[in-house]
Amino acid sequence: MFKAIRIDKDEAGYRAALTELDEGALPEGDVMVDVAYSTLNYKDGLAITGTNPVVRRFPMVPGIDLAGTVTHSGHPEYQRGDQVVLNGWGVGEVHWGGLAQKARLKGDWLVPLPAAFSPRQAMAIGTAGYTAMLCVLVLERHGVTPGWGEVLVTGAAGGVGSVAVAVLARLGYTVVASTGRPAEADYLKKLGASAIIDRAELSAPGKPLGKERWAAAVDTVGSHTLANVCASLRYRGVVAACGLAQGMDLPASVAPFILRGVTLAGVDSVMCPRPDRLQAWERLARDLDPALLEVMTREVGLSEAIPLAGELLAGRVRGRLVVDVNR
Ligand code: NAP
Repeated sequence: MFKAIRIDKDEAGYRAALTELDEGALPEGDVMVDVAYSTLNYKDGLAITGTNPVVRRFPMVPGIDLAGTVTHSGHPEYQRGDQVVLNGWGVGEVHWGGLAQKARLKGDWLVPLPAAFSPRQAMAIGTAGYTAMLCVLVLERHGVTPGWGEVLVTGAAGGVGSVAVAVLARLGYTVVASTGRPAEADYLKKLGASAIIDRAELSAPGKPLGKERWAAAVDTVGSHTLANVCASLRYRGVVAACGLAQGMDLPASVAPFILRGVTLAGVDSVMCPRPDRLQAWERLARDLDPALLEVMTREVGLSEAIPLAGELLAGRVRGRLVVDVNR
């Protein structure tokens, strides 16, 4: 038996609870993992609370991330004792996930734990941090360099935002952090932000084109915020869009694209091909200061994940939550 969070949906309603499960009930897969740490990302918050239809099979063990040790493997690349990391691939949505002491997975989904990180650090990064790095890589692929000018990060005090601020600042960018929490200004400056703006400046309906300000942006918020970011990118600016914390809509016009040649670059972490994942983890090892990772991380036990899911969706969690599944 092992401990796990289990989500059920039936006539009694939608509910998540800490429970004990039998190993025999684990889904099919060629690699068994003893999980050491998992995390709480925005999507895990949606899954645990049932706010969005993220979970598509029941019962489900949530947790889109895990780090742990292989105990059995029928996959040629992994052996008993190997330390591995998993992010995405529908785990925690359609396949039992990481908020549990054990997982059975497809070996093709795993990546080796990067030598630079402990399992706890890998989960402090988690999908949020790996997505932040995918955003930085997309900006680089579009030719953005620190010399271009200010880079905006929206949802800056959240998980993706915190890692994006820290990485971009370390790479030499002038980072402006947009947040709804002015009390987190010192935190964001510690991560490397040069200036803070109130997210209210971006969240209301705006004009199709605004004053040109941002050379580039990482947007975790979507909706009017992303529309306003596009409208205020400088000529040939680039925004890496990965999130929907404000909303899934995009009430924008084509004006920034056809008059300023700006680029709206989408970022997906779930089905991201393996070479890009490996590159993102390599770059995190190089470009994320482990001391700052610790500053942005709070560790909690498995039982705390359920009440914290609602806090996360309400935007009241700072940085990253790492979950020790064994306490
Ligand atoms: P998080 O830790 O909860 O951070 C989200 C942040 O967004 C909050 O901390 C808050 O930042 C801001 N926010 C919340 N509600 C808002 C609102 N109504 N209007 C404007 N800003 C709001 O979540 P996360 O794990 O970093 O994820 C951030 C977003 O990225 C989510 O939408 C998530 O689904 C998405 N995501 C996508 C991918 C992908 O593969 N594309 C991967 C990971 C995450 P402030 O308090 O600083 O304003």
